[in-house]
Amino acid sequence: MFVTRFAPSPTGRLHKGHAFSALTAWRAAKAAGGRFILRIEDIDPTRCRPEFEAGIYEDLAWLGLDWETPVRRQSDHLADYAAVVESLDHRGLLYRCFRTRKEILDAIGAAPHGPAEAARPGPHPADEEARLLAEGRPFAWRLSLDRAKEALGVAAWDALSFIEEGSGPNGETGRIKARPETAGDVVLARKDAGTAYHLAVTHDDALQGVSHVIRGQDLFEATHVQRLFQALMDWPAPVYRHHRLLAGPDGRRYAKRDQSVTLAELRAGGLLPDRLGAELA
Ligand code: GLU
Repeated sequence: MFVTRFAPSPTGRLHKGHAFSALTAWRAAKAAGGRFILRIEDIDPTRCRPEFEAGIYEDLAWLGLDWETPVRRQSDHLADYAAVVESLDHRGLLYRCFRTRKEILDAIGAAPHGPAEAARPGPHPADEEARLLAEGRPFAWRLSLDRAKEALGVAAWDALSFIEEGSGPNGETGRIKARPETAGDVVLARKDAGTAYHLAVTHDDALQGVSHVIRGQDLFEATHVQRLFQALMDWPAPVYRHHRLLAGPDGRRYAKRDQSVTLAELRAGGLLPDRLGAELA
């Protein structure tokens, strides 16, 4: 069964780039006689807002899309993600990171072997960790690439790959070797949220039986570590179709900062959904 999804984060109103992504996934589902899922990725409590979620439903309905209900909203399922963190911790694959963002960035600037290595700060010495824990300082959980490699076995690690039916930003397509090491020891649970993007997105793709992940090329690099995570959790690997990023009239890709091109504004300005649908075909 072909199952795909559109998984926006309600951190602003949707723009044309989102419309393109949502339409691409929805049309692929219709063409394949498959299912289209809408998922609200609202694990960031500081940036997500209910009115933006309401805006997503409004804008997608205006575009003419339909989706299955109930819609999964990630903030309603934090216990699911916490259970994954706990199981990974039991397997010894995680470590606590008390460092601030600034400390990590400073370390990256100072690293002799470039960013990838510095994004692997490694566990704190045991006595320091015990002290920070006792002080009640907040920490993030990071996935240890070293321990992940050990757990998976070198042969499985080396064979790790995914299928790209679209293309990466440099034209990558077909079977792609996964290079999770480029992401470093990614954060799987943020200090404030108890989970993080890579964990929640792969968990939900597996839970919801997503067979095809259709999304923008800006997330192509994220696929490498997400593939590792799927292997560690014994979750199936979906097929990926990364699509090009839509450029605005100035040639730059659409982003949340371009509030002038939100779908809400375009609608208010009289744009008809069919016209936009045709433009994005
Ligand atoms: N929630 C992510 C975003 O808004 C997209 C997740 C995905 O498609 O994998 O950028």
